[in-house]
Amino acid sequence: MTTDFSKKSWLSIAADSDFSLQNLPFGIFKTGDKKPRIGVAIGDQVIDTWQLAKRGYLDELDIPKSIFRKKYLNQFMALGKEKTSAVRARIFQLFEEGNREIRENADQDKLLVAMEDAEMMMPVKVGDYTDFYSSIEHATNVGTMFRDPNNALLPNWRHLPVGYHGRASSIVLSGTPLHRPKGQTKGPDDEAPKYGPSQRVDFELEMAFVTCKENGLGNQISTEQAEEYIFGFCLFNDWSARDIQTWEYVPLGPFLAKNFGSSISPWIVTIDALEAFRCAGPDQQPAVLDYLQYEGNKNYDINLSVAIMPEAGEETVVCNSNFKHMYWNVNQQLAHHTVNGCNISVGDMYASGTISGPTEDSYGSMLELAWKGTKPVKLANGEERKFIQDNDTVVMNGSAEKEGVRVGFGEVRTKLLPAK
Ligand code: CA
Repeated sequence: MTTDFSKKSWLSIAADSDFSLQNLPFGIFKTGDKKPRIGVAIGDQVIDTWQLAKRGYLDELDIPKSIFRKKYLNQFMALGKEKTSAVRARIFQLFEEGNREIRENADQDKLLVAMEDAEMMMPVKVGDYTDFYSSIEHATNVGTMFRDPNNALLPNWRHLPVGYHGRASSIVLSGTPLHRPKGQTKGPDDEAPKYGPSQRVDFELEMAFVTCKENGLGNQISTEQAEEYIFGFCLFNDWSARDIQTWEYVPLGPFLAKNFGSSISPWIVTIDALEAFRCAGPDQQPAVLDYLQYEGNKNYDINLSVAIMPEAGEETVVCNSNFKHMYWNVNQQLAHHTVNGCNISVGDMYASGTISGPTEDSYGSMLELAWKGTKPVKLANGEERKFIQDNDTVVMNGSAEKEGVRVGFGEVRTKLLPAK
């Protein structure tokens, strides 16, 4: 029912809103000095699920009310997909045009908060964070620049979804500024390494999924079972310091080039909301091993963009890409992650890896867009960028559209401050 795109809400929702009745993503918000609670975005408002629960509108779902007034979504997600999908379906029902259960008393009962008055918080307490490297275009571009243009992909790349374990502690919410990292670098002409602010700070356009179920140490998750474990997705900017990265490890930089910060959007869009946007993934050749084979459409057609806004100036979109380009899908990523028995927890975050498309304007990092600094990117105010400068703000957006109805992620917006 929640994927019926002909349905409308009794609330007025702008046609270009990311948060249609068909979306209903979950997040954590607070207002004033009230305790944080679970919110659901709709139009330019936030549904206060704690108030819904307190007033009995969710009673039929048999969920402890206190779960809706928590600092994180973790306990809610751990209820399992059957329960959390039922909550979303019930909210869809309450806000659907023909329903009058709350329509007349929504204001009086404080069921809605204007989005501008809601302070968004980290939606999830992230336990572990893994970053994949699943875009063939990105891996080819990086391999071409840093290794061998004629042999850009390493021999394992088409056989398994490459990834590395990242740092959960420095994942921050959209709106949280980050300082330019300092570290050890060594240019090709330098005699010795030196220490100082990175000169090549970059973004990586990614999406991340959040897990909602444990498999227990020693147990695998099949590609078929994977979606029982995936609650939903957010936008993910995997900040990278290229000069630190090229000195500490080539081409994947899983340490100080990455762990100074990653930024996420505040709303987790469920797989239920993305059902309508499933699409086929790229043909995988050579054929993958049995445990990585899958059936059905496991990619998602989600338009993604990145804009740079200088301190004094407007936003310039520098990249338009799409999540559908991923060579390895999330089902395969989770199956591979657990093939050795690695255990998955509730609230883990799994980023896709930089999502580059096939065209030069669809590359998901400055490294690729400006091709290692050789083709500077022009901004609307006439300035050029090879990498991100101090006081630039990087803005990522993502949304899918069907029958004029949009299912979007909002944005992840981060300002890069000078080094401390
Ligand atoms: Ca990355």
